[in-house]
Amino acid sequence: MFNIILFGPPGSGKGTQSEKLISKYQLKHLSTGDLLRSEIAAKTPLGMEAKGFMDKGQLVPDEVVIGMISSALEANPAAKGFLFDGFPRTEAQSEALDKLLQLKKTEIGVMLALEVTEEELVKRLLNRGLTSGRSDDTNEEVIRARIAEYETKTAVVADYYKKFDKVVAVKGEGTVEEIFGNLCSEIGKRMS
Ligand code: ADP
Repeated sequence: MFNIILFGPPGSGKGTQSEKLISKYQLKHLSTGDLLRSEIAAKTPLGMEAKGFMDKGQLVPDEVVIGMISSALEANPAAKGFLFDGFPRTEAQSEALDKLLQLKKTEIGVMLALEVTEEELVKRLLNRGLTSGRSDDTNEEVIRARIAEYETKTAVVADYYKKFDKVVAVKGEGTVEEIFGNLCSEIGKRMS
């Protein structure tokens, strides 16, 4: 099993690159953002609780997303590996993920951290908001709040995995194919 965390601020291209990576490496894609949006669409109690935080650009409470990831891991016992996208976003989530993977006798193989400047992020997110149907992409204030949440709460997650020498920074600007090529070459180095 080879498990990857695709890391980076909102708008850094995690969703786009995830699609390409799961197809190349046959991984199960676990995006907490997508899982939360399905819960909201299905109007579940979890979705209703999460929506208030998401609309403001704030992180959803740890226990909510950890529970969701734990169920998703259990629901996919035959997966060849997982690609975590948008998770973990806090140190508590990282510790919980490590424990969950340990129970499955596996671990994180690599954290790939996409790097993009803030002005480029805002530009991409506003642009995505024109077609994504995501209300959190149309309001610049909410976008800036998400980036601020990333800087104050999520950026430290990379320090957590650095302790285990698992982090590789990859430039998130350039063409989709160039970035994908760089991600694959880093995965290749760690898989062998
Ligand atoms: P983006 O990273 O582009 O903002 P996501 O789809 O990953 O988009 O996340 C959308 C929102 O869902 C976040 O702003 C946050 O409110 C919530 N969310 C997603 N993943 C997590 C997580 N691991 N922990 C807490 N909140 C999360």
